[in-house]
Amino acid sequence: MGTAIDTPVQYLKGVGPKLGDLLRKRGVATVGDLLEWFPRAYEDRRAVRQIDSLEPDQLVSIKAKILKVRSMNLGRSHRKMYEVVVSDSSGRISCKYFRVPYKGYFERFQALQEVRVVGKVTQYRGQIEFHHPDIFPTAEADENEDQLVPIYTETEGLSPQKFRKIMAQAVAGVRVPDPLPNWIRDKYRLAGKDMAIREIHEPTPQMADQLLRFESPAQRRIIFEEFFWMELYLASRRAGIEKEEAWALEAEGRLVEKLTSQLEFKLTSAQVRAFEDIAADLKKPHPMHRMVQGDVGCGKTLVALMAAAYAAEAGVQTAIMVPTEILSEQHYLNAKKRLEPLGLKVGLLTGTKKTAERAATLAGLKSGEIHVCIGTHALIQDDVEFKNLGLAIIDEQHRFGVEQRQILRAKGFNPHFLVMTATPIPRTLAMTVYGDLDVSIIDELPAGRQPIVTRKAFESKRAQVMQFMRDQIKSGRQAYIVYPLVEESEKIDLKNAQDEFERLKIQFPEFNLGLLHGRMKPSEKDEVMERFRRGEIQILVATTVIEVGVDVPNANLMIIEHSERFGLSQLHQLRGRVGRGQYKSYCVLMLGYAVSEESRTRAEIMERTTDGFKIAEADLELRGPGEFLGTRQSGLPGFKMANLVRDVRILQDARQAAFELIAKDPDLRDAAHVSLKGALDKAREAVVG
Ligand code: ADP
Ligand code: MG
Repeated sequence: MGTAIDTPVQYLKGVGPKLGDLLRKRGVATVGDLLEWFPRAYEDRRAVRQIDSLEPDQLVSIKAKILKVRSMNLGRSHRKMYEVVVSDSSGRISCKYFRVPYKGYFERFQALQEVRVVGKVTQYRGQIEFHHPDIFPTAEADENEDQLVPIYTETEGLSPQKFRKIMAQAVAGVRVPDPLPNWIRDKYRLAGKDMAIREIHEPTPQMADQLLRFESPAQRRIIFEEFFWMELYLASRRAGIEKEEAWALEAEGRLVEKLTSQLEFKLTSAQVRAFEDIAADLKKPHPMHRMVQGDVGCGKTLVALMAAAYAAEAGVQTAIMVPTEILSEQHYLNAKKRLEPLGLKVGLLTGTKKTAERAATLAGLKSGEIHVCIGTHALIQDDVEFKNLGLAIIDEQHRFGVEQRQILRAKGFNPHFLVMTATPIPRTLAMTVYGDLDVSIIDELPAGRQPIVTRKAFESKRAQVMQFMRDQIKSGRQAYIVYPLVEESEKIDLKNAQDEFERLKIQFPEFNLGLLHGRMKPSEKDEVMERFRRGEIQILVATTVIEVGVDVPNANLMIIEHSERFGLSQLHQLRGRVGRGQYKSYCVLMLGYAVSEESRTRAEIMERTTDGFKIAEADLELRGPGEFLGTRQSGLPGFKMANLVRDVRILQDARQAAFELIAKDPDLRDAAHVSLKGALDKAREAVVG
């Protein structure tokens, strides 16, 4: 009794220097860290099942014998699959692995060895099987048969039985202090932390059902706390922003009026609302921090240009930063077309502009002659100076890291700050990742757009797809064919942009083809893009360099080769290159040989919906938040138990609690809150990375 949670983990009995090292490598230095190594799932041993009684989607535990272990190549690719076949007296079932849990995982099994298999039953081509189940050798004297047993992520060199023994010691020896203020625990009816930790590692049988579904009070408590730290950080950052000062931009809106009156179309009401939100922010003496979120093709660029026109009328400069040269060039042309008639001067700054041109642009920014400057990362170089940068806009903001945004902001005196994103992040995620931004949502596409028809196609349908493309082009349209990036070692199996470009030129002598990939010089890329824009090129063969922003309304067909290689959000972005004008548009997802069930599911989701939010939700569910956004650049902390999809309700509570606390006591001075300061620093580290 009486171990403190910061006691080094080797002080536990049975943890020698070797195991201590192993644990430290996994981020477990203290007893407290160990206690936060939460079970991934629970095995319900009271409900051991016979193989012939299993049905799809059940989470089950079976006792069986190993029949065989084998590995095989997946289709013609170089990826491997592992299969472990097990049997009991009632039948046999296959356990499939598409990656190796850890080195040596399969080698430890022997024929006829007794094991427990725990996992979710899946149906694949009419057969039931397990995908990535846990397989545990049953030791001679294994623990109780009538228990709910926690399953921890396995580590090489540490058996589950041994791990549970160490954990039992830690749980028995420690009283875990509770960092949350009492009033929050009461208000949100949270269990005490000590009790929660105990219940999670040593579950009582009557809690079984709730624990299995991650709905027990103990789990809710831990999940709440994980979310709470992150939200507390966001709330305090938000409070900091509200204290900052900025230029209040006052303008009548004459220029915006003029801009919109010259459009050949009518603004959507969602565009109008987004701009009104922005104008209201710009008038305040605090910096705007707003995100315009809207699906691909909803017309965010125009909203940005309206904001720039407003800012120019109020007498300040605007910088618009975009992630690629192609996009900067396109925005530049667009901005010139819309803003020059208003008497504004537009500049372009990219990494590859000739020295003289660049010097002229730099001078124009410094003197204030240039009102609106579009650019890539080149905008945040040291030698770029603005006369009075009042509005910083970032397009496709998910492509930028936190620091880059900060540097751009630092180019002005607290400029107003607008980010635009076409990755429709699910609201739950937006709330966390961008929890300190105000959000305007453009939830409406311009009138007259027809939904994009999406179809998956296997190799056997290639000839038809090509004929379809020929017909579309003959009727005056243009097409994209996109290829995944291919590594040298994979070349034999996969089509790539360069080789296919040569082949397609021969196949379609009647058309002009262009090739666009990341290794081309920016000037070459610009030229190809420009010719495609002008309609001189009918088929643009490209890698994913065209993924974001590219806008050529006459192009109405997008063919994505090896579409199984792309994530849902990426497919959605790519598809968003078409359906931008009045023509009926199509997206064809070519599927290679031996595609997995998951790739097929992805293609089917794409066929079903063009709603970016629905796609984002599905993507989040398929891949989890880390993969979805790229943990680092998104600023998402890695949660130990919390799950952004499953635990939205708890997230909302935690957010409310954190914002309430900061509203009451912004500097955490209250005696009940002082201790939160340390936790807040930790959260800041986790979020900022
Ligand atoms: P995104 O939101 O993906 O950045 P863009 O700003 O590139 O979308 O706009 C897509 C296309 O729609 C562009 O060609 C743009 O000129 C056009 N557009 C924008 N607003 C409207 C509107 N209100 N009505 C019709 N077309 C519009
Ligand atoms: Mg855009």
